[in-house]
Amino acid sequence: MRTAILTDPLDFDGWRTAARAFRLAGVEPAQARFVVGSGQAALFENGGPSFEKDGAFTAPRAFLETAKDLIQHRSEDRFDLMYRLLWRLRDQPDLMAVLSDPDVAEAADRMKAVRRAAHKMKAFVRFRQTEDSQGEHWVAWFEPAHRVLRTTAPFFARRFSTMRWTILTPDGTATWDGGLMRFGPAADRSQAPAEDEMEAFWRTYYASTFNPARLKLKAMRSEMPKRYWKNLPEAALIPELTAAAAVRTDAMVSQPAPQPNARFQRARAPLVDRAATDDLVPETLADLARGVQGCRRCPLWRDATQGVCGAGGQAAELMVVGEQPGDREDLAGQPFVGPAGQLLDQAMVEAGLDRDALYLTNAVKHFKHEPRGKRRLHKTPNAGEVQACRWWLDHERRLVKPRLILALGATAGLAVLGRKVAVQTERGAVMTQADGTRVLLTVHPSYLLRLPDAEARTRERALFVRDLRAAIHAV
Ligand code: SF4
Repeated sequence: MRTAILTDPLDFDGWRTAARAFRLAGVEPAQARFVVGSGQAALFENGGPSFEKDGAFTAPRAFLETAKDLIQHRSEDRFDLMYRLLWRLRDQPDLMAVLSDPDVAEAADRMKAVRRAAHKMKAFVRFRQTEDSQGEHWVAWFEPAHRVLRTTAPFFARRFSTMRWTILTPDGTATWDGGLMRFGPAADRSQAPAEDEMEAFWRTYYASTFNPARLKLKAMRSEMPKRYWKNLPEAALIPELTAAAAVRTDAMVSQPAPQPNARFQRARAPLVDRAATDDLVPETLADLARGVQGCRRCPLWRDATQGVCGAGGQAAELMVVGEQPGDREDLAGQPFVGPAGQLLDQAMVEAGLDRDALYLTNAVKHFKHEPRGKRRLHKTPNAGEVQACRWWLDHERRLVKPRLILALGATAGLAVLGRKVAVQTERGAVMTQADGTRVLLTVHPSYLLRLPDAEARTRERALFVRDLRAAIHAV
């Protein structure tokens, strides 16, 4: 028996070096053993096997790709299966294409399980907000079915590229600082932060999308396997919602068919339904926020996580209107918390504007984006979407009654003034509308972020701060 000692359960390079040496030395699969050591420096127990120098070989790409997935499987004998396949490829170069072969079929099953575990990790990681010396830090605890942390972490880096986050798992940790990924040792659940308000969001979101009439327990357990429930905030609702499903379904069946203008109707809603909100007159900002979550006035609700309403007091004298929530706002449910929001915060401090004294909102309440690979890229809302969402902005204006509205960028200008604006020529001056509302236009902070050279950024930032100061004086 020949034994190779690997440094960790995912030591693919160690396995490949050892397997190559074994195969060249003619060590049969029954005589080859791969174990995970605990810090030993040597790859081979009792020295490496000797082999002929000219006995080089190349493993087919299909095998290497399979092996890279297989090594993430939790089964103890995965290294043996990998070596058996490698050994057999010597006499059967097309072995990987023989799907009826028991070893190939077994490898395919395990590969499928690994890929499924990666998919579940992408779907079920739930970050909690924490603070450290560098500011906001999002932390998640997750127990993957297989060792997929390293291969799945890049997905989260692309998805949450501007956030600082850490995923803790029993296999190791992945930390992203906004530019660099680091992997660390195994963690345990006690290192995960306690419940935060995001938990409440997930529960509300899950409850609002749960349709008792469409409940299929078997399919649900397959899609959301029970092993993940303990770390999913929304899973706490499953027993209650499924227990009540029969009663709720009976109630739904016995109800008359929903009328097209039923308020806030979510289930089976058409893509666009303006009538559903036409007769709604929110009396408070909280009413308005609830209405936005059920809004179907334009199709943007469909691909967003949630509607993002304004933040700030109903008595604010200055209302700041941006364009739409970005990727980060869409997840957090708060306006101006992404990079443009941070720049706005800094500029407001410089201008002497107190964020707590403002009402901050957007012209469009749902995040419009297009997928690019695994990222969601911002897409500017069109005039029809701005017009549809103006219905909510007008209610915000009615409720807040600001003395001045600061419109950030062309989309906000269109929503607030009801016409196309030329931001650079109209900026900085107070315009009074027919209803007496005064509006001041300036650029959106994301414009500053997009400027390619530092000199232009400094110049434009100074002009932006100047416009913010003009807004303070005009209130
Ligand atoms: Fe409604 Fe505005 Fe969302 Fe469109 S973007 S669905 S109008 S809240």
